[in-house]
Amino acid sequence: MSAFNVAKFGGTSVANFEAMSRCAEIIVNNPQTKLVVISACSGVTNILVELANGVKDSDRRAELVSKLKAIHSEIMASLEDISSIEARVEALIEKVATLSEAACIAPTPKLTDHLVACGERMSTHILARLMREKGVDAVRFDIREVLKTDSDYGKAEPNIEATKQQAEKILIPLCQKHVVITQGFIGSDDDGETTTLGRGGSDYSAALIAEAVEASGLEIWTDVPGIYTTDPRIAPNARPIPEISFSEASEMANFGAKILHPSTLLPALRHQIPVFVGSSKAPLEGGTWVRQTVESAPLFRALALRNNQTMVTLRNPRMFQAYGFLADVFTVLAKHKISVDLVTTSEVSVSLTLDQTDTGGGAPELPEAAQQELEQLCNVEVKQSLSLIALIGNNMSETKGSAAEVFDALDDFNIRMICYGASPHNLCFLLDEDESKEAVKVLHEELFE
Ligand code: ADP
Ligand code: ASP
Ligand code: MG
Repeated sequence: MSAFNVAKFGGTSVANFEAMSRCAEIIVNNPQTKLVVISACSGVTNILVELANGVKDSDRRAELVSKLKAIHSEIMASLEDISSIEARVEALIEKVATLSEAACIAPTPKLTDHLVACGERMSTHILARLMREKGVDAVRFDIREVLKTDSDYGKAEPNIEATKQQAEKILIPLCQKHVVITQGFIGSDDDGETTTLGRGGSDYSAALIAEAVEASGLEIWTDVPGIYTTDPRIAPNARPIPEISFSEASEMANFGAKILHPSTLLPALRHQIPVFVGSSKAPLEGGTWVRQTVESAPLFRALALRNNQTMVTLRNPRMFQAYGFLADVFTVLAKHKISVDLVTTSEVSVSLTLDQTDTGGGAPELPEAAQQELEQLCNVEVKQSLSLIALIGNNMSETKGSAAEVFDALDDFNIRMICYGASPHNLCFLLDEDESKEAVKVLHEELFE
């Protein structure tokens, strides 16, 4: 294991000059931090995604491009000397303008990745320059040379072996000489085309890079001092969790806690890299340590909320005491590469939720062709605007009364689907999106306050 520490800073942590300066201070304060992975400046990826989806109105397109320009120019205006970076940032803005026009004609996932990658490519120029002005020997590095992925644009999967080889060849030697500032979220496929890991993917990038350089630690700096019992924006009385296990934190991330991209902890777990989550606004406030073993394993650990859920209900009276129906259904889903999240079945029906992780965003859709094939097998009903709430804990299904405690608190809510028992670590249910936040609040009060 190398003595490298990898530090990742999210969008709000690099939102403006002051925020970037705080990052610089955090980096300087830990001499072991050799690799810094950052997101695009706050709001930039959202603008890029909108452009990538194709903005037909040219005024609106121009407005979005000028907004991007303003965000970056404002930060650069506070730097002492931008001669080495100004033209590069401007060239990227130009590239965005050109690609946005192409996206109006025919948006594609490949084009989207080229476009949205510009956010991280710009922010890294600026932070690297700022670090050099603070006297740090910092260099900007294009991570697409190292983070190799497949060609599944918008939700690319990393090639861990190739990434490791490239890291050993290029990145580790660079980190031995300089502090390296690089992009989260983006990578490249075998043809050298730009790919992205899905929204919020910078956390995952940082963990993959930490794994590739065999880092001794991974710090995720964000806008809250650690992982809380639930999203503090929803439940103001949520509290930070000082220490949490990899499996608990992974469940939280998988079930939508935005604080970490769902795959972040996989590389860290494979290499036993301790992960720290803290606030770049208040680094001294402490945060959460995610480790393999932790001292406490409370019955209820946290609540996660994921919006934009699509539920598909498949009914077939002939399913009663028959066999093969589920196999047929899942064959159709697999054929159309539809990732299923939760599943519950009764004698004559099966309900499932669809997953969405790619950069394009929006509610997951059941593709028309898949729907038609499923309709050959059964009656198909699709419902959107649902939310998934997951209660994460320990030994829940083996503890008498734990489900009662949860559902008593939810008496006033219409619960549409429940998954419980498959994992001792979670209890999940689906309800209408418009009452989901209230349900989280009520449940948090009941179980955690
Ligand atoms: P970054 O840009 O740094 O990656 P994100 O916005 O992706 O930051 O994630 C941080 C946000 O995650 C917080 O501001 C908070 O609203 C949200 N969040 C959701 N669940 C939790 C949780 N359990 N603990 C802390 N924050 C959470
Ligand atoms: N900039 C990307 C996003 O907003 C990746 C990230 O910030 O993690 O989704
Ligand atoms: Mg994030």
